[in-house]
Amino acid sequence: MGRDLHCLTLHAAADGLARGDFTSVELTTALLDRISSIDANIGAFLTVTADAALSQAAAADARRATGEVNRLDGLPIAIKDVLSTAGVETTCGSRMLQGFIPPYDATVIRHLRTAGAVMLGKTNMDEFAMGSSNEYSAYKVVRNPWDLGRVPGGSSGGSAAAVAADECLAALGSDTGGSVRQPAALCGCVGLKPTYGRVSRYGLIAFASSLDQVGTLTKDVSDAAMLLGAIAGHDSRDSTSVDTPVFNYLADSDDGLHDLKIGVAPQYFGKGLAPSVGSKVREAIGTLVDAGATEREISLTHTELALPAYYVIAPSEASANLARYNGVKYGLSDLNASDVDEMMAGVRAEGFGSEVKRRIMLGAFALSSGYYDAFYLRAQKVRTLIKDDFDAAFEQVDVIATPTAPTPAFELGSKLGDPVAMYQSDIMTLPASLAGLPCISVPCGFVEGLPVGFQLIAPAFEEERLLRIARLFERFRGDMEAPAREVDSL
Ligand code: GLN
Repeated sequence: MGRDLHCLTLHAAADGLARGDFTSVELTTALLDRISSIDANIGAFLTVTADAALSQAAAADARRATGEVNRLDGLPIAIKDVLSTAGVETTCGSRMLQGFIPPYDATVIRHLRTAGAVMLGKTNMDEFAMGSSNEYSAYKVVRNPWDLGRVPGGSSGGSAAAVAADECLAALGSDTGGSVRQPAALCGCVGLKPTYGRVSRYGLIAFASSLDQVGTLTKDVSDAAMLLGAIAGHDSRDSTSVDTPVFNYLADSDDGLHDLKIGVAPQYFGKGLAPSVGSKVREAIGTLVDAGATEREISLTHTELALPAYYVIAPSEASANLARYNGVKYGLSDLNASDVDEMMAGVRAEGFGSEVKRRIMLGAFALSSGYYDAFYLRAQKVRTLIKDDFDAAFEQVDVIATPTAPTPAFELGSKLGDPVAMYQSDIMTLPASLAGLPCISVPCGFVEGLPVGFQLIAPAFEEERLLRIARLFERFRGDMEAPAREVDSL
């Protein structure tokens, strides 16, 4: 029996459990051991629920011994700390929610529990999911497993690093403007953001409600399909979740790529893109073309406006969503304050970090009377133009291919003094978020020892198509020759 159980994919581990090669308790123990031995140097976890994980694993083994079980049954998964977990501290990476124990599970967590998955713990993140490097966590930084001096991306940096460092088989994250895809690209794993409305947001702590979506971080595309199948679906508790069929995203099809048209937009290969990243992504497109697909040039004319529109819309929604943290109902409070105003002001001054405060101020300004039309309304109009660009492109092509992030992982601290440089890490992921489209980042190679991600974008609710093409890409790409990971020298 292989002892490197922590390195398995979800599907390989599911096969191993089904064959009886090992038990869920053995698998879970291997991952908990891995976390204990390396996480002090990675910082991926905020909470490790070792005892609960082992008892869930034992229960999974008992279920398996007596009958048919779900394919996810007994598989250890990590959860971004933005998702409410009943009885387990959920901080959202913020001091504001330190010690907050949700009384209920997010719908996606309920689905995972029903499927029998084992929860290893809660992963580190940028505070309230605002950030692109995980350095805005109120608790600790996360280090990129490939190079410990570099960021893992954000805001789901803990989830991406945990998958990339083999501290969990897969993880859930959330993506508002790129927070699953960008860290997946920087850490060399697969990051899937479903269509807005595909997965319930109930119990996902709100950042920008018209954009937030739960996504997956996995070691390969099949695992993304497996996990999406478990978490997708209509939920009456989230009025924006859409009642549309959930497919068997895992179904393999050998249709190949012959009728496939891939759209490539020059707007994604210009300013800001590191040439070395651009050439890896071009090679990835070449791989699909060699396998029979046709490349078509498309124009996504308003791409450049996505960043300014997002940084009006997302902070506006955040300023409203974060009004609930006032010391009364959740987390941080101050019972010694002399009156309510002093308490609210004091708690918000102390509980929020500077990036969160910046977003609240930006949003409150954009929404204030006299500025609403000039900023918020205008940004919404730009959002429609961006969506119209995608709609027009999808009249001509089946899927759009772009880089996921403009550069590989950057050095810790290098963008902390310059918020706009940090925001620019998301120029390739924001447009599809504004349009609500499903997208995936798949590793496509390495540049100077660091992973590069390839983003595919599909029309709304076409996750089946997206995953099929991504899986075919992965197959034609084959195993990549990976450079040494610094985590392996720990
Ligand atoms: N990095 C982007 C931001 O800071 C996106 C974050 C996200 O997707 N949650 O807003």
